[in-house]
Amino acid sequence: MNAPSVAPLFCVRCGQAPPVQGAVCAPCYLATHTPARVPAIVRLEVCAHCGARHRRGSWGGPLASLRPAIEDEVRQAVEVAPDVGSWAFRLEGGEHDPTNFEYDVVVTGKAGHVPFETRTPIVVHIQRSTCTRCGRRAGGYYESILQLRAQGRTLAPEEVERCGVVIDRVLAQLHASGDLDSFLVKGETVKGGFDFYLGTVHAGRSIGRALQHEAGAVLRETASLVGRSKDGIDLYRVTISVKLPHARVGGFVGVGDVLHQVLAMGPRDAKLLDLGSHRRVTVPRATLDDEPALDPGAARDAVVVSESAGELQLLDPDTLRTVDVVKPAGFAAGGPGVRVVRWSDRLWLLPTG
Ligand SMILES: [Zn+2]
Ligand SMILES: [Zn+2]
Repeated sequence: MNAPSVAPLFCVRCGQAPPVQGAVCAPCYLATHTPARVPAIVRLEVCAHCGARHRRGSWGGPLASLRPAIEDEVRQAVEVAPDVGSWAFRLEGGEHDPTNFEYDVVVTGKAGHVPFETRTPIVVHIQRSTCTRCGRRAGGYYESILQLRAQGRTLAPEEVERCGVVIDRVLAQLHASGDLDSFLVKGETVKGGFDFYLGTVHAGRSIGRALQHEAGAVLRETASLVGRSKDGIDLYRVTISVKLPHARVGGFVGVGDVLHQVLAMGPRDAKLLDLGSHRRVTVPRATLDDEPALDPGAARDAVVVSESAGELQLLDPDTLRTVDVVKPAGFAAGGPGVRVVRWSDRLWLLPTG
């Protein structure tokens, strides 16, 4: 017959305190047992250019600060014994030099029933390299070209500038949604227009769609095979032709024998101001493709000589002779000068104010 097992009253190791874990007291348990191990050094790899973090074989987004990433690396590096349930740690110390941070890692928790606190020095070494994105960017890598052109005329510098604003906005939206590869590589003036080189095809398409929507541009996409990836996938480079309408927003277009100012261009319609009546009209934009157009610079100042209920007498800015111009309904010069556009042998009044 076996004798019934009896729990010892005192620690079998020191014989003094009551046992709390197996047959030993808490200090003896911790003296023979390591609840948490911390390596002397851990490495954190970040991109020296954008601050992205390299982790598990891939590059993440740029870090706002190093501290959370340092804590994460340390957390991954702490090894706790199997009998440790919940545990936590804190770092005491800080930057030693820009590439080395020195801390005490203080781990607290419970090993079995025994609370513990360990303190271990650690060096967090910041390894600075170049991420895939920054490497590609520096190497001029691009996947799409957006070719900005105007239909039947040369592109105005303001149009390139406006396109640049749209590009900045669309890229900022893509970045905010986590697409960090959609960057502008470069932009250059070419014969007939301006070319923008972009990091991804998605960026080129998104910008193209924005210009189609906001500026009435006509899009055409072509792809050319440029090589093959390591895994045997064909690599294409996509060219997105973005053609702005020949009638510019802010400029003028003749429809029939009436001059109109172009107020807005959309993918299907154009909003115009009839300069004979000063009424707004919407027309399918395709109907304007073959109409004569003037650019916004065609508007001139003219001096008002006299004004009656139905007419204005103006000093023609070209001949300096007085001419009579019929006023659109409700028009009032309200001052000594008005803006006019010469087209089809007459002056057309622009709205005041
Ligand atoms: Zn003991
Ligand atoms: Zn980078």
